[in-house]
Amino acid sequence: MRILIAGAGPAGVTVAETLREMGFEGDILMFTAEPYPPYSPPVLAEYLKSRGKDRTVFWKGEDFAEKAGVNLLFREIIAVDIREKKVYARGGEEFSYDKLVIATGARMWIPVRCQCQGEGEKFYNFKSLSAVDRLLQELDKGAERAVVIGAGFIGMEIALTLKKAGLEVAVVEMMNRILPRMVDEKIARPLQEEVMRRGIELKLNSRAVLLRGRERAEELILESGEVLKGDLFIAATGVKPNVDFLKDSGIPLGRGVRVNEYMEAGPDVYAGGDVAEVRDTVTGNIYPHAIYPEAVSQAKVIAANLLGERIAYPGALNMNSLHHFGLPLISEGAMEGEEVADEELYLEGKDGIKRILLKDGKILRFELVGEKRGAGILHWITRRRLPFEPFRDAFLRGRLNVALQLRFLP
Ligand SMILES: Cc1cc2nc3c(=O)[nH]c(=O)nc-3n(C[C@H](O)[C@H](O)[C@H](O)COP(=O)(O)OP(=O)(O)OC[C@H]3O[C@@H](n4cnc5c(N)ncnc54)[C@H](O)[C@@H]3O)c2cc1C
Repeated sequence: MRILIAGAGPAGVTVAETLREMGFEGDILMFTAEPYPPYSPPVLAEYLKSRGKDRTVFWKGEDFAEKAGVNLLFREIIAVDIREKKVYARGGEEFSYDKLVIATGARMWIPVRCQCQGEGEKFYNFKSLSAVDRLLQELDKGAERAVVIGAGFIGMEIALTLKKAGLEVAVVEMMNRILPRMVDEKIARPLQEEVMRRGIELKLNSRAVLLRGRERAEELILESGEVLKGDLFIAATGVKPNVDFLKDSGIPLGRGVRVNEYMEAGPDVYAGGDVAEVRDTVTGNIYPHAIYPEAVSQAKVIAANLLGERIAYPGALNMNSLHHFGLPLISEGAMEGEEVADEELYLEGKDGIKRILLKDGKILRFELVGEKRGAGILHWITRRRLPFEPFRDAFLRGRLNVALQLRFLP
């Protein structure tokens, strides 16, 4: 049997690894659209900081394919025929499969117009190793001032990394705070102070509308008319699943690939990772969850089901943790926060801030900044959708701990 995996990111790699762990001895054909062995995007900041020298970005080893007995092909797939069971690669080659896994991830989505002549790169981004290598070339040419568009998780990571690398950095964000989908204004405030203390210029409540230049991008125009000059303009404006090559395939598509609870997208076709639309365990909404642990869990479910199991994926839980601010920050749960919450619990102590948003008596989202204590039990309560009432008093007295968790174990 030949299993063809489109994509060599964490999802594709975990499918291959799990198949081998489960004793699969057939052919595994894996495709990547980039000229590198599989790499881990969360390590890209370290890779950039080391100017491309830190090889831990290849987190499974540069010889992953060899070790896992995977035939890794550096080809972009441009079309899929699920009746003939074939994929078509750029350049004209075609490959047949018995079972297909779509794990093509997502790419940067940039809602800003561009009026630049010249052939060179306009917007840079931080989404892939190829993109980071293009950024590194600009740094080597002596870029001095960077403008980052978007103050979400990835935008703040790249801004702080470039500042550390010695550049002048400005961040443009249309919302009233940084990390708007992770934290509220009160929690964002100390983080913003830290960002500004490090010399990063923050432009909040500012929508970028146009990138302009002659041979290269030179200035970013904000809705207010303000003009920001720069050598490098980096988009961190959100991601879009890589599904264009599936347009005429008959595979059901929304924003991403639509899958059922077994991660199936069609006969002998599965999809997982950032490309797949999955149910959120907190809100019940269905959308691509672009986070590493869920890509890995989905891939494990896919591998088992490829080998004849019938395992349902339990749904995704958004979680992010950032350490670049010099103090821990953890946020978990729904991205929709105060708009839909019924109640807010807020604790501010000398070690940090803890905030919980509740809806229908259950955790909608929790945020911890400054200290991580309690993160484990809050994760457990959120994941299991337990009523928060029995834990409320302990939380408010700063006494949430594992012993308490054990008392509530079934
Ligand atoms: C800078 C950065 C930091 C991050 N930090 C965190 C973090 O701290 N915690 C966290 O949970 N998540 C983090 N993430 C998100 C996490 O990296 C993703 O959720 C994860 O990489 C998803 O894995 P994937 O395999 O689905 O997709 P990807 O990693 O995007 O891999 C997709 C693969 O598909 C290939 N591909 C695409 N199109 C084609 C095609 N047509 N033909 C062939 N191959 C194709 C690509 O070349 C690539 O190999 C971060 C992401 C970035 C960019």
